[in-house]
Amino acid sequence: MIEESLHLVQQRMADAMRRAGRVDSALLVAVTKNHPVSAVEEVARLGVTHVGENRVQEAKEKQLTYNGPQLVWHLIGHLQVNKVRQAVPMFDLIHSVDSRKLLEEIEKVAVKHDKVQDVLLQVNVAREESKSGLSVEEFPEVRDFASTLPHVRVRGLMCMAPFYDNPEDARPIFKVANALYEDMKRFYPNGQIKYLSMGMTHDFEVALEEGANIVRVGTAIFGERVYN
Ligand SMILES: *Cc1c(COP(=O)(O)O)cnc(C)c1O
Repeated sequence: MIEESLHLVQQRMADAMRRAGRVDSALLVAVTKNHPVSAVEEVARLGVTHVGENRVQEAKEKQLTYNGPQLVWHLIGHLQVNKVRQAVPMFDLIHSVDSRKLLEEIEKVAVKHDKVQDVLLQVNVAREESKSGLSVEEFPEVRDFASTLPHVRVRGLMCMAPFYDNPEDARPIFKVANALYEDMKRFYPNGQIKYLSMGMTHDFEVALEEGANIVRVGTAIFGERVYN
């Protein structure tokens, strides 16, 4: 089941890239939150190398019991300052950085681990109250601050669009995110800005058409999550 769903997502990604005339590639992060470690192991067997988790504790339990080829772990959910200590040694890329305070804490913990932590800055283009992320106005100040931290390496930008019945309605949001991303590349001219993370099950094709090079897909691969 997962195998067919995964292949369908990969096919839809390739189709969207072709429609957009893109010759670069896009990375699929399989979002395994609320699914058991066996689901992680199954996609890993099928060749998936990047997985995304929302919560530090849940990811930790999976990392401890996971048995399979090496994976790249992405933290995609909101990160609380008091969880940074645990998160830094666990994740290759943290997508959800949205404050100075969080950056300061990541810097502090990364020093201890002798690590340079790769992060994305999360921007809340649509200003949804329910979602975290920087407003477009706050964005430059936090971006500038991040560039002063030697153990934090900003790799790009993450954006979540609101859930619209018609995913086409997310297109203007993704366009704004892409413009900010291009602006970041000018701000960091050394080439470290590489990732534009946007698009989920509902809207990943539109996101790819608007330049996303990381999509974070859960439901379309694993089915509905069961919360209890
Ligand atoms: C859960 C989640 C996803 C995946 O959502 P699906 O709709 O299941 O594909 C992607 N990004 C973030 C930040 C999430 O929390």
